Amino acid sequence: MSEVFSVSKIFGEDVFNDTVMKERLPKKVYEELRKVIDEGAELSVGLADVVANAMKDWAIEKGATHYTHWFQPLTGVTAEKHDSFISAPKSDGKILMEFSGKELIKGEPDASSFPSGGLRATFEARGYTAWDCTSPAFVKRDATGAILCIPTAFCSYTGEALDKKTPLLRSMEAINIQALRILRLFGNTTSKRVIPSVGPEQEYFLVDREKYLKRKDLIFTGRTLFGAMPPKGQELEDHYFGSIRERIGAYMKDLNEELWRLGVSAKTQHNEVAPAQHELAPIYAQANIAVDHNQITMETMKKVAGRHGMVCLLHEKPFAGVNGSGKHNNWSITTDDGINLLDPGKTPHENKQFLLVLTAIMKAVDVHADLLREAAANPGNDHRLGANEAPPAIISMFLGAQLQDVLGQLINTGDATSSIKAGKLKTGVSTLPDFRKDATDRNRTSPFAFTGNKFEFRMVGSSDSVASPNVVLNTIVAEAFCDIADELEKAEDLDIAVHDLIKKLATEHQRIVFNGNGYADEWVEEAELRGLPNIKTMVDAIPALTTKKAVNLFEKFGVFTEAELQSRAEVQYEAYAKAINIEARAMTDIAGKQIIPAVIKATTQLAESINAVTAACGDADVSVQQELLAETSVLLSETKVALAKLQDVTAEAAKKEEGKERAVYFKDVVKPAMEELRSPVDKLEMLVDKDLWPMPSYGDLIFEV
Ligand code: ADP
Ligand code: MG
Repeated sequence: MSEVFSVSKIFGEDVFNDTVMKERLPKKVYEELRKVIDEGAELSVGLADVVANAMKDWAIEKGATHYTHWFQPLTGVTAEKHDSFISAPKSDGKILMEFSGKELIKGEPDASSFPSGGLRATFEARGYTAWDCTSPAFVKRDATGAILCIPTAFCSYTGEALDKKTPLLRSMEAINIQALRILRLFGNTTSKRVIPSVGPEQEYFLVDREKYLKRKDLIFTGRTLFGAMPPKGQELEDHYFGSIRERIGAYMKDLNEELWRLGVSAKTQHNEVAPAQHELAPIYAQANIAVDHNQITMETMKKVAGRHGMVCLLHEKPFAGVNGSGKHNNWSITTDDGINLLDPGKTPHENKQFLLVLTAIMKAVDVHADLLREAAANPGNDHRLGANEAPPAIISMFLGAQLQDVLGQLINTGDATSSIKAGKLKTGVSTLPDFRKDATDRNRTSPFAFTGNKFEFRMVGSSDSVASPNVVLNTIVAEAFCDIADELEKAEDLDIAVHDLIKKLATEHQRIVFNGNGYADEWVEEAELRGLPNIKTMVDAIPALTTKKAVNLFEKFGVFTEAELQSRAEVQYEAYAKAINIEARAMTDIAGKQIIPAVIKATTQLAESINAVTAACGDADVSVQQELLAETSVLLSETKVALAKLQDVTAEAAKKEEGKERAVYFKDVVKPAMEELRSPVDKLEMLVDKDLWPMPSYGDLIFEV
């Protein structure tokens, strides 16, 4: 009989997790390592040697031939260089499989080949990867075989962070220290650590690989640069949560199994709003592990799609006119002994610690809305944020009826004496159970929503690492906690001081709270009156990184130095300019080599058919053909003019100074020129014979997966 598939058996099978460590390490070594992982104790080389050896033996039993320091440079994707375990052959020609503690803890990739925003020049190329033992090593399997992946942080010779992970770990330390101060004030002497938890919901599109290969825009840029809307879009709302088609189901099954093996707790899966769009959410984990797991998830999604003859698109806006993809970043802060600081309890009005934490977060988000916005900025996300799609570019906070009411009482009367109770859900059908509902409804239009015992930051783009948003969240909340602790630690009467501070914070920062419809035009106006920033594009968001406010914040908590912030801003400007440059050049290429020739063919055929028809029958009515020919020819010439202009401005862009100036030029001049080219082409697609059109249509791509 074939064995029944068991998730619990395969889960974490390819992870060097606690169970494996316990099994394979001498007890003393295991305990020492746990101290390093759990309490941040120093790691000795002797310890690393023993761990490396056990890790190697384990990995080799799993079939691994190589190891790699797996890291997350500022490209936003992961990087790896494989080293095999083999030693130099001995005199008898035999090799050994070796892996030392030194190799485990330190790697030396060439730092100058990764984006560093000027921190590293080519002549000072040295960079180091350092083992992040708080995130477990794992064995990754693909066509290269099985590779032992060691999660690492990536720094320059002089210790500047060159990656997404280092600042994340620093920010986790910052919030840990400051949150503990708050807990101690409330008499908690037992919790040892406070850890941010993250659960990123990952949206993605799947398209057929054969069709994908016929779309140069998808190949080069991950999104369609042309494409007329199909007769049907997402208006029937029949895809969201719809039953999952066989081909997609088979993909999801395979994907889950791969992820489970790698210890990623893939939990939910469903169809999303747009046709061909889907979502996967894991069970939340501590921030740095969640960030690693999200990278593994994105990589595995792409890999598994290939096996199913599909391509997984993680771009924020692969198709104009239908919903784009995001990544809801669910975030909470929990102690090592299981207390969630964001749990309001049944009667939040009595929960002073919760109210203090909540108002601290209000302050953090209000004061640093620009930084949060920046953390969600990437070229793809510009098509969502501020472009009439979920969520808007304005940062606001949704608290829901219950908390809004408690804060209202505090602000208006100085005291909160009651909490709205959750009612019962009555369906009116006797056979359906009545159950207790949540005290608060949802608001899907809010970019930063309180959802019961966590905040959901909904702005992040689907292709982005979730590291940056969490660096910002952890640090801005650490700052708010620090300010609060500074004040309260000096208070003579703590109860009164806490009460007054909650009221003060709620009053001062209530402008950030908005429970209404975030998509409405009125909100844009009201937000402006409230003085909330409305930062529409990535290029406009980048300066937030280097304001005095940001430098003070990040330096104070040791998360970024000013030089690191400046380098990151530089990397962002460059990334933007490069992305748009590739898009513009791909458009030029496609329009010049595929679309214009196809349209010429179409007009020639039309002209020939007019001649043929008139020759056959002198007074036949050829007005339809003539009209079509005229219309097509006008659009064709518009296309040619727009193409020439796009070519000109793209060439001009290269002359602009690298960095901000060039990025601004791409945003203000090149992007509009791209739209000017797209417009006649999309109209042409509706006129030209489908057989002549040089690429699959939107309809082909999203309805026929
Ligand atoms: P929702 O219905 O609010 O979207 P789900 O239960 O579907 O919530 O969870 C969405 C994501 O949020 C999941 O990844 C889940 O693990 C994560 N999540 C749930 N609780 C927390 C928490 N306390 N902190 C961080 N993430 C959480
Ligand atoms: Mg959600």
